[in-house]
Amino acid sequence: MYNLILFGPPGSGKGTQAGILVEQHDFLHISTGDMFREELSRNTPLGKEARAYMDAGHLVPDEVTIAMLRKRVDEHPDVTGIIFDGFPRTDPQAAELNDLMREKDSQINALILLDVDADTVVQRILGRGATSGRADDLKEDVIRTRYENFLNYTSPVFDFYENLGLAHRVDGTQTPEQVAAAIDAIIGRRLQEA
Ligand code: ADP
Repeated sequence: MYNLILFGPPGSGKGTQAGILVEQHDFLHISTGDMFREELSRNTPLGKEARAYMDAGHLVPDEVTIAMLRKRVDEHPDVTGIIFDGFPRTDPQAAELNDLMREKDSQINALILLDVDADTVVQRILGRGATSGRADDLKEDVIRTRYENFLNYTSPVFDFYENLGLAHRVDGTQTPEQVAAAIDAIIGRRLQEA
């Protein structure tokens, strides 16, 4: 299996790049944000629990997120690879993902950071807020909270993978095509090594 983490602040383009990758490779795309939004729209107990955190721009508690992620991975035992989008977002989530991969006799092959500054993120998300239908995309203070949470809780996860020699950084302010080309070059190199 080839497993990739798409990493970066909210609005950095992870979903866009995951879509491009899924067309090129036969990978399973797991977006924890999409999964939570689906639970929300179906008004499930999990959705009800997650809503207050999401609307305020806070992270959903680790144990809830991890249980949901594990279930999704277990539902797809035969995939050739997984793109993790929006997970892991905390150090405990990264440790859990490590255990999960080991249980499956697999591994994370690379983490790619889509590097985008706070002001660009705010502009992009307010722009998509007009059409995304997401409550957390409408208010600048909520968007800034999400960015702050990224810096405080999520960015340390980068160091975890950097210490393993698996972390890469791509300039996420380029056009989607340029970002995709940069990701492609990294994966191509990694696939050859695998
Ligand atoms: P974005 O990256 O644009 O902020 P996502 O769609 O990835 O949006 O996530 C939306 C919200 O879902 C987050 O703000 C958070 O509340 C929740 N969420 C998604 N993934 C995680 C995670 N791994 N851990 C905790 N909360 C998460």
